[in-house]
Amino acid sequence: MISEAMRRLGDSPSAIRELFEYGRKRKEEIGAENVYDFSLGNPSIPAPESVGDTIVSLVKEKEPCALHGYTSAAGDLAVRQKIASFLSETHSFPVEREMIYMTCGAAASLTVSLHAIAEKGDEAIVLSPYFPEYRVFCEKAGMKVVEVPCREKDFQPDLPAIEKAITPRTKAILINSPNNPTGAVYSEESWRSLSDFLYDFRKKTGRMVFLLCDEPYRELNWTGKTAPFPPALYDAVILCYSFSKSLSLPGERIGYILVGSNCPEKKAVFAAVCGAGRSLGFVCAPALFQYAVAENLGKTGDLSAYRENREILCRALKEAGFEYAPPDGAFYLFLKAPDGDEKTFCARAKEEELLLVPSTSFGCPGYARASYCVSKETVLRSIPAFQKLARFYQGERK
Ligand code: PLP
Repeated sequence: MISEAMRRLGDSPSAIRELFEYGRKRKEEIGAENVYDFSLGNPSIPAPESVGDTIVSLVKEKEPCALHGYTSAAGDLAVRQKIASFLSETHSFPVEREMIYMTCGAAASLTVSLHAIAEKGDEAIVLSPYFPEYRVFCEKAGMKVVEVPCREKDFQPDLPAIEKAITPRTKAILINSPNNPTGAVYSEESWRSLSDFLYDFRKKTGRMVFLLCDEPYRELNWTGKTAPFPPALYDAVILCYSFSKSLSLPGERIGYILVGSNCPEKKAVFAAVCGAGRSLGFVCAPALFQYAVAENLGKTGDLSAYRENREILCRALKEAGFEYAPPDGAFYLFLKAPDGDEKTFCARAKEEELLLVPSTSFGCPGYARASYCVSKETVLRSIPAFQKLARFYQGERK
């Protein structure tokens, strides 16, 4: 009668969503100020004012049927031109509007891109820990997920491990930098060695592996170094961008897919993206927001709020004796469970009203993720709870 696979998926909400729902109820019971909800990656800073101003002027000035009407399936051509010009200028690398497909955020970008490239029996390498929906998206596209752990010391891609895991069936490697959940920003060296390896692999085997670059956190980079633009380093790139985090517009569902202008058989790849978008019903991303983001390229909300939260939290956690991954980007802190048992650690944290996501959700044991896209007040109020949690573990060890 129905798809059992889809029913199972619908019946098993993600651990992150479950924790978020728990937090919502708990806030009703004991007051929002007493729950330190680090569960969800929902931006806590408003979109830049210019986004609102653009929307107001669009509503006032653009003819309503044109404003709210369908655009081309791949998105409004003028919008795609503005994005292409912006990217070309910013990265000094040619970007073509014909290779841009407007989508409903990074989730749709990934699903469409995976469906565009997947053939029967294909494998996708994901670098663990990873955004949990990757598994759902890859499997829905008919791909087998091959997990390859990152290096534990810095959560950079582990090239020897990727070399071991790659097979003639590998169609793509999913790359997410700045990373959810670790906060790692992949170094130029990581990018270069991966791209060199993939070119070498192609030379030896004749197999081209796509890099699917998931970049909703591109601008949330605290290293002070500009992140490499993937198409400038490797040719077979499909870049999945979203304005959810940079412009704090996650509910508006807007982003794009970019096929690198140097991608082999780029016209066929882009046609497959259009076909996948069509077959999945992801045509014509929300029109008003296509126009709105096109006028706000390169802008962000006031990211200093995240920067400040990160500094306060890192300092407090370090003083309390916790260890964490280098928090170089995004708005996540990946905390080591003191005794390596992330489930008990998160359960114990919950008793202190600290909502942390166990790293099992991300395909990696031993850690907990704290999303610090919360108010500064929440961060400050949470510190005694973190200190108490640390004391519990220090006491237990004695
Ligand atoms: N990819 C990663 C790594 C994410 O963290 C998220 C959302 O948190 C997404 C994709 C989905 O982003 P969007 O809201 O743009 O669909």
